[in-house]
Amino acid sequence: MVSFHCKTCNSKYSVNAGANILMICPYCKNDIGSISDYGFGPIVPCEVYVGMEKVADLDDKYVLRSEKYGINQQMIGEYKDLGYYKCVAEYMHEWLEHTETEAQHYIYADKKNM
Ligand SMILES: [Zn+2]
Repeated sequence: MVSFHCKTCNSKYSVNAGANILMICPYCKNDIGSISDYGFGPIVPCEVYVGMEKVADLDDKYVLRSEKYGINQQMIGEYKDLGYYKCVAEYMHEWLEHTETEAQHYIYADKKNM
């Protein structure tokens, strides 16, 4: 179980996830943290969560894939300083900004934590 806290809207999300995770806040749509089993680099494959729901994977060729959203997009970045994760975060932010409605946010959230 891994927990993330969005300091902007004070939401908390706990997920049972794999070793590499990028968490996006469904309300603020920003990257609120990542965990990677290597400690300092963006390791793939990586699971991308929006709140409680896993929505996408970054595969070992740094392609972001989401069945839910119909995304299949090569990420561009650098290995150092979590460059690929930043690219994913920016892409997801743009995607959520333009396609998600307010009501859809609730499916991502654990009501107990709100
Ligand atoms: Zn937030």
